[in-house]
Amino acid sequence: MILGYCGLYCGGCGIYQAARVGNPVKAEDGSLMLCEGCNGSKITEWCTNCAIKSCNRTKGIRYCLECDENPCDILKNFMDDEQYPYHKEVQDNMKRLREIGLEKWINEQQEKYTCPECGHTFNWFDKKCPACHGDS
Ligand SMILES: [Zn+2]
Repeated sequence: MILGYCGLYCGGCGIYQAARVGNPVKAEDGSLMLCEGCNGSKITEWCTNCAIKSCNRTKGIRYCLECDENPCDILKNFMDDEQYPYHKEVQDNMKRLREIGLEKWINEQQEKYTCPECGHTFNWFDKKCPACHGDS
């Protein structure tokens, strides 16, 4: 559930993390943003309406690297979005995933987004651990 079709690890998402620890982020309309990850039953609005996901599902593949057209324009646009610099990592993410398999990949990603000093999780946007360094 926490492997995005695009190759992102949902566990690195701030909204996902907040929902996991029972303190979900509030949307602008006041509703709680609950998310179980890309393939979960509860998903945020923008991940529900994801072009990459619907494309993968139509093609019957699990992530973009399995597609002959990778990287297609949809994925390229996604990767080039400057608002989300971590989108650039998805090709490497997917290569690594193919190399080591899903289970190991999830462990590795989990480690990547957990502070080795204090065990606090941090998200895609955090350069440093927000618990150790005070800002997020
Ligand atoms: Zn820390």
